[in-house]
Amino acid sequence: MKVTEHIENAKGKTLFSFEVVPPQKGKNIQDLYDNIDPLMEFKPPFIDVTTSREEFVYIEKEGLLDRRIVRMRPGTVGICASIKHKYQVDTVPHVLCGGFTREETEYMLVDCHYLGIENVMALRGDAMKHQRYFEPTQGGHTYANELVSQIKDITRGKYLHDTVEAVNKPDFCVGVAGYPEKHLEAPSLEYDLKRLQDKVDAGADYVVTQMFFDNKKFFEFVERARAMGIDVPIIPGLKPIAVARHLQLLPQVFKIDMPEDLIKAVEQCKNNKDVRQVGVEWCIQQSKELKEAGVPVLHYYSMGKSDNVKAVASAVF
Ligand code: FAD
Repeated sequence: MKVTEHIENAKGKTLFSFEVVPPQKGKNIQDLYDNIDPLMEFKPPFIDVTTSREEFVYIEKEGLLDRRIVRMRPGTVGICASIKHKYQVDTVPHVLCGGFTREETEYMLVDCHYLGIENVMALRGDAMKHQRYFEPTQGGHTYANELVSQIKDITRGKYLHDTVEAVNKPDFCVGVAGYPEKHLEAPSLEYDLKRLQDKVDAGADYVVTQMFFDNKKFFEFVERARAMGIDVPIIPGLKPIAVARHLQLLPQVFKIDMPEDLIKAVEQCKNNKDVRQVGVEWCIQQSKELKEAGVPVLHYYSMGKSDNVKAVASAVF
């Protein structure tokens, strides 16, 4: 079922969902299941599976370093299919511009259709680690709105080579990213919201936000998006902080602010076990307030560890 249908069927009740990261190549998928298992009691209608673009690795060979391009966490669509099959839950593979040609994207979408996957998140992806700015892959898209258009074209039977008179067209529900504190490259929130509108105009069906730690930022973002005419569901993305280093790391990576009260609470912690507890309690308060405000879904970034998300969900759902 589509994410938007799950939201409609919930009739105003806030749903629980989360995102998982594929294991590194060569690692066991059981670790992933072990993290999903404890969260299934909260009945997520859908689970997102992230996609990682290619990266450079250096392999020592006869005293020299050989640079290779590899994808360390492949398998997003396969993992979506296995989770869907194992847990009878809808899955949402993340589809990226960066690192993929339009053809590769088309093939991935065809696979999704054959596997009964009806939802995809369309994202640009970040610059590669050695790049200062995002550079589009040759033959790939530059911005996520172009990717949304490609996905929506396929739902109309329009493939890259031709329009196909298909009896069984895929009907993908497409999610896109939104940034309550603006995307790190955007010159202003207003500009970034206009780009979000471009994605919705291209056919995006719902928005999932970047993590934030101050609900006020989310409420203002939704208000401005609505004023602009963006009328699709907006799902808040949340992450409980887990270690003291997150205070510096998350603002650095995502260009988000940490509220003073959260900083003070973390600074008073004696160890990371205490920080974890602070992170869980903060996330519970955020979740309760958002639920009270009637958000359609609370979407958690589990980052491969589910125990703190479980602690939050137990208090909220
Ligand atoms: P876009 O919407 O293309 O926007 C990128 C930037 O370009 C913004 O600053 C925007 O304002 C600007 N822009 C957009 N259109 C135009 C235009 N036409 N002209 C000029 N400027 C424009 N990354 C991964 O690698 N894998 C994942 O699985 C993944 N999952 C994510 C899930 C969520 C919910 C979120 C919020 C992010 C996720 N990301 C993921 C990170 C995401 O790929 C990065 O934040 C990326 O830098 C931007 O992606 P986007 O889809 O928002 O890009």
